[in-house]
Amino acid sequence: MPTFRAPRGTRDLLPAERAGFRRLETIASDLARRYGYREIETPLFEQTAVFERGVGEVTDVVEKELFRLAPRTEEAESWALRPEPTAGIVRAYVQHGMQTLPQPVKLTLTGPMFRYDRPQAGRYRQFWQFDVEAIGDPGPAIDAEIIELAQRFYREVGLDTVEIRLNSVGDPACRPAYVEALAEHYRASAQLLPALERDRLERNPLRLLDSKDPAMAALNATAPRITDRLCGPCAEHFAAVRAHLDALGIGYVLDPNLVRGLDYYTRTAFEFYPTGAEGQQSALGGGGRYDGLVELLGGKPTPGIGFGLGLDRVLLALEAAGKAVAPPVPIAVVVGADPDATAERLRIATALRAERLPVQAEVGRRKLGRQLESAVKAGARFAVIVGDELESGHVVLRDLDAASQKPVALADLAALLRRKAGPE
Ligand code: AMP
Repeated sequence: MPTFRAPRGTRDLLPAERAGFRRLETIASDLARRYGYREIETPLFEQTAVFERGVGEVTDVVEKELFRLAPRTEEAESWALRPEPTAGIVRAYVQHGMQTLPQPVKLTLTGPMFRYDRPQAGRYRQFWQFDVEAIGDPGPAIDAEIIELAQRFYREVGLDTVEIRLNSVGDPACRPAYVEALAEHYRASAQLLPALERDRLERNPLRLLDSKDPAMAALNATAPRITDRLCGPCAEHFAAVRAHLDALGIGYVLDPNLVRGLDYYTRTAFEFYPTGAEGQQSALGGGGRYDGLVELLGGKPTPGIGFGLGLDRVLLALEAAGKAVAPPVPIAVVVGADPDATAERLRIATALRAERLPVQAEVGRRKLGRQLESAVKAGARFAVIVGDELESGHVVLRDLDAASQKPVALADLAALLRRKAGPE
């Protein structure tokens, strides 16, 4: 038999890790709801053109990392797995005529994304993002609100030292002249450019600025800065975003080289890093404004802004900080003196579960000693021991930590366990 393994760059989320993810998802959805975002689900794959147009053809994400699905011969359509959620959400916004709803339309999605990248630590081919999008508001207040929401997410999950990097990438009024100046800067040192960057220089010079190639670091440090060349409205917008962040007491670092990997961004761009991190590999999340995207995907011109926070990297950071969470455990396991009385044990466990208590029943027919050992291994705090006392409506409740036990009336059992379980 061949040895089967999860595909390269993917991993199984075993219960310990899945519990950590569940916690992040719960915090994400509670927060999103608190800020007025409603949940949406879009397909895991879209027409390839949604990403080619919506993300941009000269981007790593589309050029190198798009998971294209091989079309069956009878299908004319070409599809790809979603590398990020924004293009699909905006496609849905246009398709369902959400322009007619009160604006902004605030949507959130948490789910897997796919990029055919070279796998390494913290870089997977299937990874998870918590995403929010506010479509139909030109800002600047909502820009700050969204950045604050991301910061609150990191705080609530337990990462207190996340750095916010902020930039403005301009708009179609001021970016072209800047991009030309940038291209001039790189052309002057064309012989120093790595092959891929030289190739991109004529197609999309902005890409060079956030190149991951170490050979680019020196050239990028001396590159012209977009923030020195913003047009009046973009400069005003950027100043207003910063003033709103200041008003909320949110600290950030200005990063003139932050252009984000995706083409659709305009004006506000931001990323989140563990404080003191070098390079881009460690980005925990990012986002920005995309005022041209709705139109690119066939809608009326509509502004929008959103973020995608990588949950895998948050979990890695939490594990590194010793803040991993344990999977849930039962409060009690129902065991019995008579190994064969499985129906009795099931009946009692069922009644407790109906009272919303996490309780297991020993359904094997082992001796009581073995049943108790397995209850301890399951992490339960109590064993409910069913024996002769059942005739008088009682069971024995054994505290597995304290190794003490006492008879309890069946009628009182649920209330007693609930008190011991504490708040849900
Ligand atoms: P991006 O849209 O590329 O800025 O991605 C947003 C966030 O998703 C990043 O900041 C990462 O935290 C996460 N992310 C992106 N690509 C990957 C990947 N291949 N594996 C794990 N996380 C990723």
